[in-house]
Amino acid sequence: MTTTDAAAQITDLLRPDLRGRSAYGAPQLDVPVQLNTNENSYPVPQLVVAAMIEAITKTAPDLNRYPDREFTALRTDLAGYLTRSSGLPIEPAQIWAGNGSNEVLLHVVQAFAGPGRSLMAFTPSYSMYPNYALSTGTTWIDGFRGVGETDTRRYDLAPEMAAAQVAEHRPDVVAIASPNNPTGTAVGLDVIEAVYEAAPRAIVVVDEAYAEFARTGTPSALTLLSGRPRLVVSRTMSKAFALAGGRLGYLAADPALVDALRLVRMPYHLSTQSQAVARAALAHADLLLAEVEAIKAQRDRIVTEVTALGLTAVPSDANFVLVGGFSDAAASWQALLDAGVLVRDVGLPGHLRVTAGTPAETTAFLEALRAHLAPGRQER
Ligand SMILES: *Cc1c(COP(=O)(O)O)cnc(C)c1O
Repeated sequence: MTTTDAAAQITDLLRPDLRGRSAYGAPQLDVPVQLNTNENSYPVPQLVVAAMIEAITKTAPDLNRYPDREFTALRTDLAGYLTRSSGLPIEPAQIWAGNGSNEVLLHVVQAFAGPGRSLMAFTPSYSMYPNYALSTGTTWIDGFRGVGETDTRRYDLAPEMAAAQVAEHRPDVVAIASPNNPTGTAVGLDVIEAVYEAAPRAIVVVDEAYAEFARTGTPSALTLLSGRPRLVVSRTMSKAFALAGGRLGYLAADPALVDALRLVRMPYHLSTQSQAVARAALAHADLLLAEVEAIKAQRDRIVTEVTALGLTAVPSDANFVLVGGFSDAAASWQALLDAGVLVRDVGLPGHLRVTAGTPAETTAFLEALRAHLAPGRQER
């Protein structure tokens, strides 16, 4: 059988709703400046590396046994971190964790959506949300955002518009990224409250993957958890904690909701090493989070400098900026790549998303951008 025959046969056997779809695939290119997936540019500090190695050394002899299915110690540490950072009493029984927040979000969709049910988000938003719907046979509902015409309000959500959409579509699960990806702005708590009230049977998930980067005074939806058993707040160690490779995401919700997620997880889904590495990281949370302020400064620098170049910047509470005003975003993406800087073309006409890296990486991006936009050099 030839390769093309095999491909044709596999396509024929594939679920019809998956045929012709393409997989999630931000390019992983080996270029000097990688600012395309919102990773933290700072390597894990040596002190934390040593603690991780020690933790793995201690647990390795027991790898003949399955991990603690309930990740009890990790759950306690995560509850402690949320309690310390939010000032709210978050109990270990309110915590669920997985291999990245993508997994815990998928658990929510598996448990509360699925065939005959629906998942809704307000787009542009995180590109994985429709994939959760696709992979679980859930109906995808594409909500919209947009308060004003300019880039400063175009991607905002107001309480009434969000509430009207969920009242109309009656989704089973609503996902709201705040700060939103790829646009960067946090959603007001009034929006979350309005959605929760307008969809009395929906699970409302607030995806706070970038919460630690939010501008001062931006409240977390953790403050809304009390008395709202259908509310879920997800977090990740992939961004602020500089642990994308560790694959550890988690959520906080009512213990009854957390309990329901046990029905859909694979047995022993969090490996012994994942639990050990995450605990070592959490024990050094202050050190790992130390670069957050430096990253926020580079983010604000990008906003200021691209605006000075005549481009637009969406206000950002995250570790990235959505830059607009390109006449041909794909061409500009390629020109930046040719200069050794990888950013993200998120498919929004005229826009590119750039992660705030180290000061040197940010300088490299801005210089490449300036050269690309220089009069006579190239069309913007
Ligand atoms: C990066 C990101 C995540 C985190 O994914 P992990 O699986 O935890 O690495 C979740 N939500 C959004 C919106 C993101 O941008």
